[in-house]
Amino acid sequence: MKRLGNHRKKITVALLLLLAALVLFVRDRPIARAAPHALAVPPAPATVSPVRACWAEMGRNEAFGQVATAGVTHLSTWEVTVAGLVVRHPKGDLVVDVGNSSAFAKEIAEYTYLERKWLELLPGSNRIVATAPEALRALGVRTDALTVVVSHAHADHMGGLVDLPEARVLMPEEELAFSRGHAGDHSVHVVPAHARALDGRTSALVFAPRPYETFDESADIFGDGSVVVVKLFGHTPGSVGVFVNVSPAVRMFHVGDAVNLVEAVERRLTKSVVMASTDVSHAGADATVARIAQLHEAEPGIAILPAHDRAAWARVFGGPGRCVGP
Ligand SMILES: [Zn+2]
Repeated sequence: MKRLGNHRKKITVALLLLLAALVLFVRDRPIARAAPHALAVPPAPATVSPVRACWAEMGRNEAFGQVATAGVTHLSTWEVTVAGLVVRHPKGDLVVDVGNSSAFAKEIAEYTYLERKWLELLPGSNRIVATAPEALRALGVRTDALTVVVSHAHADHMGGLVDLPEARVLMPEEELAFSRGHAGDHSVHVVPAHARALDGRTSALVFAPRPYETFDESADIFGDGSVVVVKLFGHTPGSVGVFVNVSPAVRMFHVGDAVNLVEAVERRLTKSVVMASTDVSHAGADATVARIAQLHEAEPGIAILPAHDRAAWARVFGGPGRCVGP
């Protein structure tokens, strides 16, 4: 009997390994290319207001490389950052994403066991290295005169608003509705305390039908081409990407959680099974990856900054707490 049991166990393990290999193989193929797009090259960044861009790191983590993207990655470890992309503009400071709330554990205490475990395993597993106000103040940013753009409403991007009660927030209508829709339930997408933190200080980010690079609509935050937001819907209903133009040579594109690694853009890969479960629309998420890949092919000089690809941030800034620009 015991031998038969062992035999069965071996077969099960072999089948599971075969299934995992099959999933890796199938998802290793590039997703379809985006439809051709007339590149709308913006005015030379030399003519826009001079800005500095900085990396405010709020959290860190290390994960198995294979978790970051579909396909077979050569990356053994995915170095994760939870970060704010700070823009020091003559008209005021702006930050893209503010990390998680310092009260996260308390905020999800009422969740059901499985949902709480899920949140503890994903955003909750990141080690906080600084709260949002600490990371921002270390860079000299005044948190009472700050504009926050959140790439999307997930806990590790928007939760920090709880610790920044005086900052004003800009967010597309779609993401505002998504957040408010979860203000009263226990969703893994938006924590109620984070949705409530939007109240009274959030304005809708309005997109003009003005093409920018490979995107059909754009929102120019300061009206001078230095910070331009585009729609990257798919990961959530109102996810955005943010272009920051420091100089003709230093341009970056914060893509939130549209991809987890620059490698996914280079190879046009969808997400791993685990990470794809955090996307609200798989078709939308894949179309967005294709759009970013198209931009990357046309404009390889623009540094792609996936919100959690620590190596990509290190290439641009050298290290956390550091800035580039005049
Ligand atoms: Zn996310």
